Amino acid sequence: MKEKHLPITNESGYYEVRLESIGGLGANLCGKMMGELGLEYLGLNSASFSSYGSEKTGTPVKAFIRFCDWKKEIRIHSPVVRPHLLGIFHEALLGNPSVLEGCQQKTQIVINSEESGEVLIKKYGISVGEIYTVPAQQIAMKTHSRINVVMLGAMARVMGFVPLDAINEICKKALGKKYPDALAGNLEGIRRGYEEVAKYPQRDDKDEIHIRRIGTEVPQWGYETAPIGGINPLYGNSVASDVSPSRQGFIPVFIPERCINCGLCDSTCPDMVFQFQKGEYKGREMMINKGLDYYHCKGCLRCVEVCPVQALVHGVEAEYPEKPWFLPNQEMLRRPENYEKTGADGYITSESYLTEKRMEGGEV
Ligand code: SF4
Ligand code: SF4
Repeated sequence: MKEKHLPITNESGYYEVRLESIGGLGANLCGKMMGELGLEYLGLNSASFSSYGSEKTGTPVKAFIRFCDWKKEIRIHSPVVRPHLLGIFHEALLGNPSVLEGCQQKTQIVINSEESGEVLIKKYGISVGEIYTVPAQQIAMKTHSRINVVMLGAMARVMGFVPLDAINEICKKALGKKYPDALAGNLEGIRRGYEEVAKYPQRDDKDEIHIRRIGTEVPQWGYETAPIGGINPLYGNSVASDVSPSRQGFIPVFIPERCINCGLCDSTCPDMVFQFQKGEYKGREMMINKGLDYYHCKGCLRCVEVCPVQALVHGVEAEYPEKPWFLPNQEMLRRPENYEKTGADGYITSESYLTEKRMEGGEV
């Protein structure tokens, strides 16, 4: 294989990639494929690893990839903090400014979105990077592939040193044996991602863009100002997180007139979504189910399965832009900016999602 030279590297000699995603969209596999790509098809040395929490599906996932000259040993295994390329697998993740952490003006940012770069820049106040967009979800649905392969194709094009053939080969190797029936669709997804990724023209000073500078918000409390014995409810704490982007198109819909206030949903929900308050039911004073804090609902639908009287039913989120019985938890400390209305505005209820489930265990 012909040895390849990277067009750009950092001071340590690495070209670095970070993928920002949520569990279930395939960023982990995408990162592994990119890592292998460097070694097997590009004549480079490479390394990749992912970071995710205990519950993988629906929770934030990051994947990190490093490329360098094949003669150089990779002795650094820490997360990528200043990426040359950033892949964002779900547009709503941009609602959290930390997703863009470490990006410079020259960082290439590839976003899975049907919106144009211009719209995204205004909507999320993006002030860094070169913005590329690709409607990966839509392409995945049409080609019966997955978001991760479409993003892989798009990112390969943007990187500029990865030929389409090499991506196809790595896809055949990764998926061909395991899912031979899905291979043609995935190759088509890669091709369309490669061809349809679009760059937003460079911004100039005349652009009237609302800029939100990342990292300039002054926290009310920090380690120096927090009261002794107090907790910081913001950083690293899921209590203040809006997990709406984790939902994949479905929500539990509450029908209060059926509810018998048994509390099974509350015991089952892993995310403290249900809001019980003192009240009266059938003449008895008891805790009453008043609604759901959808900010914390990741859409697993376990509550729907346990409800004995179908007071919670399976709903398609797109049909409920204003969610009835949406009751934010009043007891939790929060700042309004934690809850920008990012929402789950992408819905993976497509054939591709069903195909994926079939492939992974025959749920459908
Ligand atoms: S499980 Fe169903 S009936 Fe029981 S409290 Fe929850 S919503 Fe009401
Ligand atoms: S779907 Fe139900 S159980 Fe799952 S997080 Fe939402 S409210 Fe909780």
